[in-house]
Amino acid sequence: MTTLTHTLVGAAVAKAALTGHAIHADPMLVYTVSVLAANLPDINVPFIGLRRSFYRNHRLSAFHLPLFWIALFLIIQILLPDHTWKTILPYAAVGIVNIFLHFILDLFSLHNGVCLLAPFLKREYSITRLKDRPETIRLYLRTYTKSVLFKGELLGSLFLLGYLLTKPF
Ligand SMILES: [Zn+2]
Repeated sequence: MTTLTHTLVGAAVAKAALTGHAIHADPMLVYTVSVLAANLPDINVPFIGLRRSFYRNHRLSAFHLPLFWIALFLIIQILLPDHTWKTILPYAAVGIVNIFLHFILDLFSLHNGVCLLAPFLKREYSITRLKDRPETIRLYLRTYTKSVLFKGELLGSLFLLGYLLTKPF
């Protein structure tokens, strides 16, 4: 999935959390954490560059491994005092949900799956049948924009946008 879709999902999760549940948290901070967390597994892309991340497959980095985030959250929960953990819990919950939604969305892919069990098992998992990776970004964009996945992503993004634009904000 693209950054735009991950961002819209993050905003929708924040809105759902704030409207459906009586959580005691700063709404602006919930939206910020939610959108950032929705894109966090792809955080290495801006640092290594879009072109290099395409050729190196950014999904093989530690940030794109579900077990990395599970381990990190367990360590944070163990290290933080109880009262601090309770204070950040609404934000952490939104963050955890978004990070794992990111992996679920990335399971719908044309060329690269998600290494759900790495570093123990390096196999890439995908709900869709993976095709060989195109040689260039231009070829990738051409095949992706013609795919059913792209059309589904567009429809999903429009649905999320509609949800975000309805009241209450
Ligand atoms: Zn990703």
